[in-house]
Amino acid sequence: MQGSEKMTFQTRFAPSPTGPLHLGHAYSAILAHDMARAQGGAFLLRIDDLDQSRARLEWEELIYEDLRWLGLTWDGPVRRQSDHFDDYRAALAALAAQGAVYPCRCSRADIEAAASAPQEGALGFGPDGRTYPGTCRDRGYADRHATDALRYDLTRAEPDLSISFSETGLAHTGTYEVTRDHLLTHVGDPVLARPGMAASYHFSVVLDDAACGITHVIRGEDLFEATFLQRFLQHQMGLPAPVYHHHRLIRDAGGKRLAKRDEARAIRTYREDGATPQDVRRMVGL
Ligand code: GLU
Repeated sequence: MQGSEKMTFQTRFAPSPTGPLHLGHAYSAILAHDMARAQGGAFLLRIDDLDQSRARLEWEELIYEDLRWLGLTWDGPVRRQSDHFDDYRAALAALAAQGAVYPCRCSRADIEAAASAPQEGALGFGPDGRTYPGTCRDRGYADRHATDALRYDLTRAEPDLSISFSETGLAHTGTYEVTRDHLLTHVGDPVLARPGMAASYHFSVVLDDAACGITHVIRGEDLFEATFLQRFLQHQMGLPAPVYHHHRLIRDAGGKRLAKRDEARAIRTYREDGATPQDVRRMVGL
């Protein structure tokens, strides 16, 4: 079913196999699965194992086990990012051929120092931390080294570029404009690949979602801000725009967002303690 032209609702759950799934993942997966089933659409599973230094096969296997136990079935073969590194490199080479990619050697500390310089004005923080002020923008792509990151030069985009995305998540429902100025102020030239990695998170998910014909991206609202940049990258590569649905995050009793290292709340722990999939649905408010 992957990439089917006729499918009008095709979504995915895309966990990184870097730890056990917790209640927040369960909520996201069940929501996407149930929305797909309600629409007569498809629910795909993608393993975001882009960062090979952190991804482990044992976590990937636990993802399958947990999802099956929750009663979730996915359509078509599982897509693993690690099987598509060549695709990311090819897409990057195509953007580089347009003159839009440059190598960057700035460390976080360099970016912090450069962005706080008075002449940079009001550069803030965005989905990737401190806005990148474009320090290395004049370096040519041919001059790249293995230790460089590769960035997209936002000043190559049309100055009056105005694109948008549709959001259906409760907290943000509406249409959002994406402008070059917004990206220059809030993100800075985005990283497309880090040293030793085939692609950055943003670049890979945009390519994967398009390759799989994803029509609806359902994920936690911590990724809402990242959508502006992802929509921009889609546009620059002529890829279709999915509809976005950012859902609430599951928090612990103290209001803190659940994290992977929070082993106590792993789905596996609930499972081993005798909870049922219905109990999990109840715990996340479904
Ligand atoms: N792999 C990402 C994560 O675990 C999600 C990717 C996405 O939904 O865009 O947070």
